[in-house]
Amino acid sequence: MSAEKAALHSTIGLSGRRGSLITAAIGLDAIIVFNDIISARSPLDAPRDMLRHFPLLMQACADDKCDEPEKIAHDAPHVDGTGRLTGGGWPSCVPSRRPRDQGLMRVAIIGAGIAGLACARRLRDAGLEATLFDKSRGIGGRLATRRAEPGDPGVAFDHGATHFTARSEGFTRLVAAWEKAGLAARWPVAGADSWVGRPTMTAPLKALADDLDVRLSRPVTALTRSRAGWTLHSEAKRLGKFDTAVIAIPAEQAAPLLSLHDFEMARAAMAVRYNPCWTAMFAFEERIEELPDFLRGAGSLVTAARDSAKPGRAPGERWVVQADWTWSEAHLASESASVARLLLAELGKVAGRELPAPSHIAAHRWLFSQPSGQDPKLLWNPAIGLGACGDWLYHGFAEYAWLSGHVLGAAIAAEAPR
Ligand SMILES: Cc1cc2nc3c(=O)[nH]c(=O)nc-3n(C[C@H](O)[C@H](O)[C@H](O)COP(=O)(O)OP(=O)(O)OC[C@H]3O[C@@H](n4cnc5c(N)ncnc54)[C@H](O)[C@@H]3O)c2cc1C
Repeated sequence: MSAEKAALHSTIGLSGRRGSLITAAIGLDAIIVFNDIISARSPLDAPRDMLRHFPLLMQACADDKCDEPEKIAHDAPHVDGTGRLTGGGWPSCVPSRRPRDQGLMRVAIIGAGIAGLACARRLRDAGLEATLFDKSRGIGGRLATRRAEPGDPGVAFDHGATHFTARSEGFTRLVAAWEKAGLAARWPVAGADSWVGRPTMTAPLKALADDLDVRLSRPVTALTRSRAGWTLHSEAKRLGKFDTAVIAIPAEQAAPLLSLHDFEMARAAMAVRYNPCWTAMFAFEERIEELPDFLRGAGSLVTAARDSAKPGRAPGERWVVQADWTWSEAHLASESASVARLLLAELGKVAGRELPAPSHIAAHRWLFSQPSGQDPKLLWNPAIGLGACGDWLYHGFAEYAWLSGHVLGAAIAAEAPR
């Protein structure tokens, strides 16, 4: 065994026959990624849960039983993830491409945030079929709107992105169309080229999703591949078979899904770091005269926005404040009620007085708020029909997430059978 392999073995605790077989079978790169997965900082259960199945899924892939999750679960205690993997790849999982004479390419998109929606829309414009799956009950991801009472539009807060820019040509055209349809408006207090959705941040995304096939409350927990194509799984349920799969979710959640199929993509996802952001929402009975409609970088607050001052909102006095990354990290494990009170006090400091008791007060913790940037814009492996898009592949802003999805959609459409 080379010194490099020996060092890796001791780092990741692989020893004896099992360790040698794994490195020999799936190669050093795979082990490095596997090690990265294990050590990845991941506050969510899902990626850890994927890890439990990692050797099992690889074995199933090697056995060409990718679309048999029940079998995988049944065999779990008996498979040690070693014996049958040979040659540094997936021996019997040949690329699954739809033959040109077999009709429309079916594309599955995991994640109905702005990136996934942009990709789906681009595919639809090219005459292809795209099906979106999202774990949430609504579309939009981090371009989010939350109501104080379900169904009550009067007290709503944009608790994700406060605004977005429109600078690039394609996105500017789209935003102009949204403006014409009354779904977006400029909000110059946040910057000369700042825009907001109207009457909520999610309104223009709903238009983007119009006539697309979006399936909500569908968390995708595994992605397997066989000669017949990709199968999406949600726990033990199969969500369908597709020719191409697109992963349009934050990098930390994308990495475990990618790692089973394309190690370079997984490596790119694991290089991304997100910072958390605690966001608090307040409604008051009276106007806080001392505060401007929007402010940046005041004490521990990265931004504070008078949400009710955005165009097209219901009357009232509503605020959304975002704590900076250091403060959010320091309070990561705190209760949301106490975080909301602390952030109310922070807003009071900026106003220079104790604020009145809010009629509504809440806080939301974003574990993955905005990612450290990269610049490939998209990831696309045409040999197996697997792609990834999202703000983590460009810059951590809505406009760049849209661009990432749009260019991935174009890349897939360019290769689709006609
Ligand atoms: C607090 C905060 C403030 C921000 N401020 C700004 C700002 O001022 N300006 C700006 O431009 N941007 C801002 N952003 C960033 C902006 O919101 C994001 O860049 C953009 O929304 C990312 O879009 P996306 O489609 O890449 O990802 P997301 O919006 O995260 O969409 C991913 C979707 O995937 C779904 N999903 C995740 N895992 C799974 C799974 N396993 N199965 C199925 N579905 C899944 C999620 O439910 C989500 O709907 C802010 C973000 C936050 C959180």
